[in-house]
Amino acid sequence: MKKLITLLLAFLLLCSCSPKSSIEGITYSDGKYSMQIFAMDTVMTLTSYGKGSDEALLKASEEIFRLESMLSTEIDSSEVSSINSGGSAAVSDETLYIIQTALQISELTGGAFDISIAPVVREWGFISGDYHIPDAATLSSLLKNVDYSKISVSGNSVSLGEGMSIDLGAIAKGYAGQKCADLLKELGVESAILALGGNVQTVGAKPDGSLWKVAIQDPLDIDSTVGVLRCSDTAVVTSGGYQRYFEENGMRYHHIINPVTGFPADSGLISATVICPDGTLADALSTFLFVLGLEKSLDYYSTYGGFEAILITSDQEIIVTPGIAESFTFTASDTGYTCTVLE
Ligand code: AMP
Ligand code: MG
Repeated sequence: MKKLITLLLAFLLLCSCSPKSSIEGITYSDGKYSMQIFAMDTVMTLTSYGKGSDEALLKASEEIFRLESMLSTEIDSSEVSSINSGGSAAVSDETLYIIQTALQISELTGGAFDISIAPVVREWGFISGDYHIPDAATLSSLLKNVDYSKISVSGNSVSLGEGMSIDLGAIAKGYAGQKCADLLKELGVESAILALGGNVQTVGAKPDGSLWKVAIQDPLDIDSTVGVLRCSDTAVVTSGGYQRYFEENGMRYHHIINPVTGFPADSGLISATVICPDGTLADALSTFLFVLGLEKSLDYYSTYGGFEAILITSDQEIIVTPGIAESFTFTASDTGYTCTVLE
């Protein structure tokens, strides 16, 4: 009997100490709840601290899947697919907001950012995985239908010009990250970090009150980093040619397309990181700064502001905007990088 009671006590003790999760798929250890999902063609890691985090993470993951089913071009029943297949469709307020934000940004960037680049991205094989360099005739005929100014909005109805289609791949994850951060806060979470591929969204600061540390990847060696950014309550979004690409005849072709040439953007930037309290904007900004290149990006920064950036050039120069001078630690001088903080 005594042995049985000892065994029972040992069992109860084990149950109270071992990592546990009330929700399947969520791991728990030392106050940290974490879950990994695959959505929007991306591995996402959601991490949250404190009471209620498991429920909150589950809701956040459901939110991401909901947005994916609304925004993906690869899901036939999505709102974006219905715009593409019918040439026009009535959409939800959320889809409308994302499309309108994208159109405003297209205006501001003279079309360097253009969601109607979709058929060109598809032709390169970045959707199917059947990568190839399009022939010049195909590319020039597809480029005729890339023109954000032919996307019109009336009420909740979005219409495309003849032969056009759209893809929100450059902005949707930013919106999803922002929505999840807002949702976690509504659910009482004070400390979380959401990594949606190259989109990092932080909620509050770390549980001990110190700032989150977000490593900035070395675009020339993805297993290394070039520095660390300390931040709280913000989005940190990186666009880089190293994130999705294929190689042919010794050349690398990546997924961010210059709408003027139809070829992967070759602006001299190999990575553009944007730090901005609004995740949707941060995502769009990082994509188009990558297309614009260093000089035009800095012009855009000084004209409009509202964000900070870490821009990396192909000759290994790292340019940091003044608002994050104190928050960024450069760590890559021994791998040939130089770092300049703008004044
Ligand atoms: P991101 O990783 O956020 O920079 O977005 C890259 C994705 O956006 C690509 O996979 C394409 O689906 C899409 N895209 C590529 N080039 C552009 C562009 N110039 N403007 C808007 N979206 C683009
Ligand atoms: Mg983007």
